[in-house]
Amino acid sequence: MLAPYDIAIIGGGINGCGIARDAAGRGHTVYLCEMNDLASGTSSWSTKLIHGGLRYLEYGEFRLVRESLLEREVLWQLAPHLIHPLRFILPHHDGLRPKWLLRLGLFIYDHLGGRRLLPATRTINLQSGALGEPLTKGRFTTGFEYSDCLVDDARLVVANAHAAASLGAVIETRTLAQSARRADGQWELTVTTAGMDAQRTIKARTLVNAGGPWADLVLRDCANLKSKSHVRLVQGSHIVVPALFAHGHAYIFQNRDGRVIFAIPYEGRFTLIGTTDCDYAGDPAAVAATADDIDYLCTAVSDYFEKPVRPADVVWAYSGVRPLYNDGASEAKATTREYVFELDAPEAEAPLLSIFGGKITTYRRLADSALEKLAPFLPPKSVKTSGWTATSPLPGGNMPVNGGPALVKDLMRRYPFLVEPHAERLAMAYGTLAGRVLNGAKTITDLGEQFGGTLTEAEVVYLMTAEWARTADDVVWRRSKLGLSMSTGEIARLSAWMVDQRPAVVASEKADQK
Ligand code: FAD
Repeated sequence: MLAPYDIAIIGGGINGCGIARDAAGRGHTVYLCEMNDLASGTSSWSTKLIHGGLRYLEYGEFRLVRESLLEREVLWQLAPHLIHPLRFILPHHDGLRPKWLLRLGLFIYDHLGGRRLLPATRTINLQSGALGEPLTKGRFTTGFEYSDCLVDDARLVVANAHAAASLGAVIETRTLAQSARRADGQWELTVTTAGMDAQRTIKARTLVNAGGPWADLVLRDCANLKSKSHVRLVQGSHIVVPALFAHGHAYIFQNRDGRVIFAIPYEGRFTLIGTTDCDYAGDPAAVAATADDIDYLCTAVSDYFEKPVRPADVVWAYSGVRPLYNDGASEAKATTREYVFELDAPEAEAPLLSIFGGKITTYRRLADSALEKLAPFLPPKSVKTSGWTATSPLPGGNMPVNGGPALVKDLMRRYPFLVEPHAERLAMAYGTLAGRVLNGAKTITDLGEQFGGTLTEAEVVYLMTAEWARTADDVVWRRSKLGLSMSTGEIARLSAWMVDQRPAVVASEKADQK
């Protein structure tokens, strides 16, 4: 009889994959199932900030802000290819809190959480210079400039899954956890994988519910546990428009209704604007940016920029639901961003640990705490101890924090046929693993078919074999954002190619596993 896994995890978002990596590194046997693609839930629809969250200070969430601030530099050093420091401009205007109070808030922000590498806050003159230039003429005189980081959220999830698999975890995508029951002091998890007829049963000593917006459903429908509702679903939409400014700083605006709107330089040629904060009651998988969301964001941001932003400018809009812990707050924007665990272990065995709330920024600390909660139920393992993930780079991240330009140069030296934008994109996406994608190619032809936007056959094969990509959406919207630069026809061609190649890729994966 097969030994049970130490931990089975439902959900391949940032929290599920973060826990899988941490647990596998400690020497536990780990199984993770994701019903769709990795990061296809909330974890690819975020504002993409690794941040303390300036406004959470107003809600008195000092513990969360401190932990998040500390994580900025930790995560940046673990994955400098995916996480980049970013300076934010907060323009001061009538109706905002007084300047001295904002300066005090930013002083706390600078000093609460172990900032060592990121530059400190400074006061800036917005009446002249590039930073004030795109803003409404004559409205702003002073602003504050402070630091946070920008992350490729979906790739951070994949990097954690990749790391977990390298440490022995079994990661199955397109695999739905249908039911879970306790039997003989362990869990029996019944799963079905798309394209396979038979159900399978996975046995595990402990079960983690990292279902994000589906966490309540996992408890009720999958584990058949009567439980009060914990998750408050709060929808947030974003729009992407052609770049509104040429410099590399972001803006943070306090909107008239008290919400915060970011305008962030995005993917070289665009500006990312978000977000909304509205309670959501439908199927999390069906969430989409509405015309009202788009109008709201255009109006909000046009209040600040000299050149208005119109719905017709929007090249892409996306929406996600925050799986917040329901703390009874009256307004969606005031609901806590803290993570909360619920441990169900009636007979002091076969525990089910459910996760509610959280942020991308705090996923690593969440994973560490989750494993501490499960530790009494797990066989003692001594491979690595609590906190090991703070110093072990993620795949591709073993380089200095400012090592990006040197990596691009090195790629162009080793692969002289690469044009600079191609080398830059590969360096940012794969870090020191970029060479694996290029696989010893001597000419551009060696990389096979060109799908558009510098995407080649060699890269798609890598994504299908090493990063669980199955569909064109996985490739152009999660493993990359090439959907912003490829035409519909190019994406359709990629899709057809991936369908054709799928049997060959499955065969090669099976051969590799033997
Ligand atoms: P998810 O990513 O949703 O993962 C859960 C997974 O479980 C899903 O992929 C789902 O398919 C799978 N699943 C569910 N049920 C089953 C089942 N039965 N079987 C198999 N699989 C199942 N955080 C930040 O730190 N910075 C930000 O800038 C930021 N901005 C945000 C902006 C918006 C608009 C939103 C919505 C969130 C933002 N967040 C941000 C928060 C952050 O994105 C979330 O906290 C985080 O992604 C949640 O991750 P998760 O793993 O819990 O959930």
